[in-house]
Amino acid sequence: IDLKELGQNSGSIRVFCRVRPLVQTNNVKTKSPVTVEQEKIAVKSVGIKKEFSVDRVFDQESTQEDVFQEVKPILRSALDGHNVCILAYGQTGTGKTYTMEGTDGKLGIVPRAIQELFSHASEDSSSTYSFSISMLEVYLGSLRDLLAPRQPLFRPTECSTACNLSILATKNGAVEVEGLTDVSITELKKANQWYCRGRRARSTSWTNVNDVSSRSHCLTRITIRRHGATEEVSKLWLIDLGGSERLLKTGASGLTMDEGKAINLSLSALGDVIAALRRKRSHVPYRNSKLTQILSDSLGDGSKVLMVVHISPSEDDVGETVCSLSFAKRAR
Ligand code: ADP
Ligand code: MG
Repeated sequence: IDLKELGQNSGSIRVFCRVRPLVQTNNVKTKSPVTVEQEKIAVKSVGIKKEFSVDRVFDQESTQEDVFQEVKPILRSALDGHNVCILAYGQTGTGKTYTMEGTDGKLGIVPRAIQELFSHASEDSSSTYSFSISMLEVYLGSLRDLLAPRQPLFRPTECSTACNLSILATKNGAVEVEGLTDVSITELKKANQWYCRGRRARSTSWTNVNDVSSRSHCLTRITIRRHGATEEVSKLWLIDLGGSERLLKTGASGLTMDEGKAINLSLSALGDVIAALRRKRSHVPYRNSKLTQILSDSLGDGSKVLMVVHISPSEDDVGETVCSLSFAKRAR
């Protein structure tokens, strides 16, 4: 073990892995190729024998609360003025949305994080905080404002302004999405209402394409302002990435092929950026995708990144599982 590498891993980029429980439709006759021991994941199948290690593994029995306990320290960094990115990566169906949004009774990271920010703000008597929320979707290289007052019908070929936002770099090195709705949230209930509204906008306004959510990235941004002697501003990004499966190999055509290419391109651009940051390269290739451009002030120096890589326990998915864990390995 390289101790220097280990030391770096406790730093600004952390990688977790979450294994989804088996579902009915999976191949349940064969033994799962995935086994977990502490922070190591072994994948064994015909012709495959690999082992990966990450900073923390959540097995099939892990709860939303287990995951959130490990996320809390990084939220504290956001409250202390650091930009933070929490990203859910993985093949479609492995639980990215479950981890980020959750379900009614089993809240995910985003609603829990919002709650945590408000409760911290009410307990911290030395500073006052204010929060605002934005939500956007990145699809086929276009950016769509999910909290825009009137939701445009978004088809890739007929974009209105709310789905063709551009990215600006400001003088102080910060990055802004031009015209993106940013709603000030002063109470928890309102914050959750806005978050629900953004989620609804994501799922309802795609009229002509099935299951676009798996081929787009959904980004929620909470801007935190801490007012003390000086004002400190930080961004907390909570990101449900598009599915990492290799669509090109499934014989997809037409629009699906473009979608697959766009997602694969932006995920590999993200992987390249994280790999360059980990290796402390002087050149970090942020410009290769919209996703990495938007996040360019929140992935580098002084920011904290948490990537939660989701995998399936099923034999049917073993190829994608190895790909996802290889992506995690590069990030580490
Ligand atoms: P993705 O967003 O990666 O495509 P989903 O979050 O939609 O995947 O998960 C697919 C299905 O599996 C959903 O019905 C979800 O509720 C369920 N699921 C995913 N992860 C878990 C988990 N850890 N525990 C229970 N159910 C899960
Ligand atoms: Mg999803």
